[in-house]
Amino acid sequence: MAEATQIEFPAVEEVRLRRLAMPLEEPIRSGIHAIDSIHLFTAEVSAGGSTGLGYAFSFRPNEIAAVAALGADLAKVVMEGRRGVRAHWQAMWDHLNFIGHEGAGVMAMAAIDTALWDLLAREAGLPLYRLLGAAEPGVDVYGAGGWISWPVERVVEEARSFAAAGYRAYKMRVGSRDWRGDAERVRTVREALDPGFGLMVDVNQAWSVDVAMRFGQALEEVGLIWIEEPTDAQDHAGQARLARRLHTPIAAGETLWGRRGFTELLAAGGVDVVQLDLMRCGGITPFMAIVPLVEATRAPVTSHLFTPISAHLLAACARPYMAEHLPSWFDPFFAQPPRIVDGTLLPTEEPGIGLELAASARERWEVRS
Ligand SMILES: [Mg+2]
Repeated sequence: MAEATQIEFPAVEEVRLRRLAMPLEEPIRSGIHAIDSIHLFTAEVSAGGSTGLGYAFSFRPNEIAAVAALGADLAKVVMEGRRGVRAHWQAMWDHLNFIGHEGAGVMAMAAIDTALWDLLAREAGLPLYRLLGAAEPGVDVYGAGGWISWPVERVVEEARSFAAAGYRAYKMRVGSRDWRGDAERVRTVREALDPGFGLMVDVNQAWSVDVAMRFGQALEEVGLIWIEEPTDAQDHAGQARLARRLHTPIAAGETLWGRRGFTELLAAGGVDVVQLDLMRCGGITPFMAIVPLVEATRAPVTSHLFTPISAHLLAACARPYMAEHLPSWFDPFFAQPPRIVDGTLLPTEEPGIGLELAASARERWEVRS
């Protein structure tokens, strides 16, 4: 079997970029977003007879067009020289220096970096998680949804359908202007579910620290798995205050950019559960560099979306915790849904990440301009 150290990274021969736009059947609302469509930017990097695939997403067409425009420049950067994956990553990062290391440029480089790792694993003949040093993959998976624009009966119905499919827990949205009403909805959902099935909530940054504190205190006895992004993602001090005062764990991290975002979070006292978003981290290269920083604080590491790729990345973490799956947003774009068996998210066993764009998705949703 190939050793990771013996793999020679081939010169990149082609980088193909696409945009896809999938309308949602009905618009939904979270604490800060109104969402009617999912926009995907994909990068396919070819070399040595293999092609790797990575992606980033947004909710607005102009945002994903900006990602694609910057991605076209970054594609030229990785075409320029024969480098290893990390050197390609650094070259892209350096290229973005002028425009900055947050936002569209970082999202574009994340998709290309993911494609490069997929390509490397395919060339090595190994599933990505094995290339990253993992032995026993598998992490509990929870279903996400529960939009604040839905009546609570519908949230209950969705939670029950995830429970029936074997998922370990369910995440519903809160973060409306009426925190007491949100707390009531959470109690209603909790009471409708089997006690052994977990429940967490996502505020999507909608509340002040004081409102989040009152909500958290009111629900301490409910035993939520976590309260996610209770307040402004940049307010590390406020999140740390909530994490210290509440027994219910506080989760955050999905809206932080690059390694610096996490060093700042951890320096301010951190949170109880740290969530890494692959595209905001800037790709697999920084994701796997941020993980040990978090693990050193003993906080559990989890991921934000990117379920099929997270299956590999979480498998390579020392203490992975609860992977997220939001089936309706992403599964329709890909040939295979994520591998979920008895509530456990598993990586694919074929070489690479095992991700392939569905032909039907390209036919229906590819944006050609
Ligand atoms: Mg979230």
